[in-house]
Amino acid sequence: MLRNWRSLLHTRVRFCLALMSIYRLLFVCVATLIVPTPLRAEPAVQTQEVPRETQARAKESAITFSSVHVNGPYVAMTFDDGPSATLTPKLLDLLAAHHIKATFFVIGENVAEHPEIVARAAREGHEIGNHSWSHPNFAKMSQENVRSQMQRTDDAIKSATGKRPTLLRPPYGSITDREKRWIHAEFGYDIILWDVDPLDWKRPGPAVVRNRILKETRPGSIVLSHDIHPGTIQAMPSTLDELEAKGFKFVTVSELIDMATPVTPRPSPQTDQKAPPKAIPVVSPTPSPTSSISG
Ligand SMILES: [Zn+2]
Repeated sequence: MLRNWRSLLHTRVRFCLALMSIYRLLFVCVATLIVPTPLRAEPAVQTQEVPRETQARAKESAITFSSVHVNGPYVAMTFDDGPSATLTPKLLDLLAAHHIKATFFVIGENVAEHPEIVARAAREGHEIGNHSWSHPNFAKMSQENVRSQMQRTDDAIKSATGKRPTLLRPPYGSITDREKRWIHAEFGYDIILWDVDPLDWKRPGPAVVRNRILKETRPGSIVLSHDIHPGTIQAMPSTLDELEAKGFKFVTVSELIDMATPVTPRPSPQTDQKAPPKAIPVVSPTPSPTSSISG
């Protein structure tokens, strides 16, 4: 009887202890969720030197572009992940017929395979930008590996075109603020994202690609698409026709940045400074790398 009672007591004590540790675990989980996490700022910068952080942010916005505030109907078409042996030459023919200059963010591996296509694009007035050597996620890599991806591609482009690029589009748009700063300091690159994304890598069909681009493009837009998908190339003739019919003029990304005019302050609700409305093209901060896997 006594033994039974003891073992019952023992079981209860163990049960209570188990319950307590579950509660403790729950508390830690909830606390983690509630405590605000610093927004992509390095802890040292955030806690100690606010002015320096502000400085860094101002500087960062000057080297990162998702769109550009311009006076005039100018846009930049950008094509990523090539060159493709078959599709890129077709696109170059189309662009030449329209007298349109575009920007190609090329992958180093592909440049090494088809340097003549990149040479042709450069010769025909298009801009060539660095899109890494093998399309990895920069935000998850060591500085050394990112540097190697950058340098090898920079060299391949120089070797194909005779000119070093000045623009980087990080694969997937994924890059840390720290990486932006040291890449800009070391390589002199601007970091180019986009504000128009037709999600053409999902291969939704040419009509959808065209309609999305037509719907979202504004003066100052940087339009993302990929010259490695047949549907994108099929979408381009009517996309370019329609954009021209709407009065848009096409320039390279560097030309668009050179046209940047100051954003005049607009009377707006004071609180929301973080996200500029999508309809107004401005030099704007990075979209979250997790929000899209384009690029
Ligand atoms: Zn890409």
